[in-house]
Amino acid sequence: MAEHDVEVTIDGGVAKARLQDAEAVMRPTTEELVLEAHAPSQAQLEDVAAFLAAHVLEFAHPEAPDIRWSGFAERKAFSDFREMSVVRVLDLTPHMRRITLTGQDLDRFATDDNLHVRLFFPPDGHAPEWPTRGVNGLSQAIDPARRPQVRKYTIRRIDLGAGEVDIDFVLHADAGPGSDWAGRARPHDVIGMAGPGGRGIRAADWHLLVGDETALPAIARALEGLPATASGVAIVEIPDEADRLALSKPEGIQLRWLHRTNGSPSLDEVVREISIPKDRAHFCWAGAEFDAIQKIRRYWRDECGVAKADQLAVAYWRRGAEGD
Ligand SMILES: Cc1cc2nc3c(=O)[nH]c(=O)nc-3n(C[C@H](O)[C@H](O)[C@H](O)COP(=O)(O)OP(=O)(O)OC[C@H]3O[C@@H](n4cnc5c(N)ncnc54)[C@H](O)[C@@H]3O)c2cc1C
Repeated sequence: MAEHDVEVTIDGGVAKARLQDAEAVMRPTTEELVLEAHAPSQAQLEDVAAFLAAHVLEFAHPEAPDIRWSGFAERKAFSDFREMSVVRVLDLTPHMRRITLTGQDLDRFATDDNLHVRLFFPPDGHAPEWPTRGVNGLSQAIDPARRPQVRKYTIRRIDLGAGEVDIDFVLHADAGPGSDWAGRARPHDVIGMAGPGGRGIRAADWHLLVGDETALPAIARALEGLPATASGVAIVEIPDEADRLALSKPEGIQLRWLHRTNGSPSLDEVVREISIPKDRAHFCWAGAEFDAIQKIRRYWRDECGVAKADQLAVAYWRRGAEGD
């Protein structure tokens, strides 16, 4: 559990783990391992049950213990899952398409703390089959021919009144299920959406926001959400001049665009030009391709000494690898 930063206490043979405001209790007997999940909401209860079940299966491998939760109805949709359908499709730039989706009961997605969702793309030509919970708390197996493919995307805008979310999809070469679906989406097409997840951009006096086009929706949303007095720097790398978007931002945030086609320096090179004011509360955020993120994270941590709590650098995709 340590690799998940989970604090575990063991007392009288009973292990207790705190998972944010939920708790997992593990009580081994000679015959079985009794697991208990306590959480303030159904969705968190499902998360804790799935977390425990997945780890028990992992640690017990190759033994495959039978896990049975009581208190859960089997074969039900997960409570963080929604079926969404396409309302509108709008091309923002040559490589970015905004798709407006509508669905029921979207309140849980309207938070600035968790910006991204997992989208489930049904295989072409098949009626969608969405994940349901098995008696072991984990997703039930779906026939591979009908199994949706899952990719992460950012909620660019949410309008609870209208029951709508906007997702801005990058249309890229070598398209996988996400980019491919977005390229062909029509009103009334259906996909699944689960979440939200991830960490948002923390409040600070000075912000550094760095990303390529996949992180542009997150950066645009963050800039809109910052107070008018905010200061800092935002750097966005896009394929070409035509891929720029008009962003609304506080005056004190300096915005710099890098274009790959005109030989601009790379994102990680430009990050090295920015000095971070350590005497002010600062927060550094980056979302981009895996290799760039490795360099940026290492630079902030090892050369700038930015504390772990003051930075978040996330690989949004990896060249040559399919996302999940
Ligand atoms: C937290 C989070 C939030 C994200 N938000 C968004 C968002 O709002 N909008 C968005 O467009 N993306 C976003 N992404 C990135 C997106 O999940 C990946 O780009 C994903 O790989 C796209 O899936 P795909 O099915 O199109 O391609 P995949 O099947 O994953 O990959 C197929 C091939 O395409 C390559 N590839 C994947 N993405 C790109 C790319 N952008 N440019 C060039 N080649 C690529 C892969 O290396 C692979 O070779 C986000 C990722 C994360 C982790």
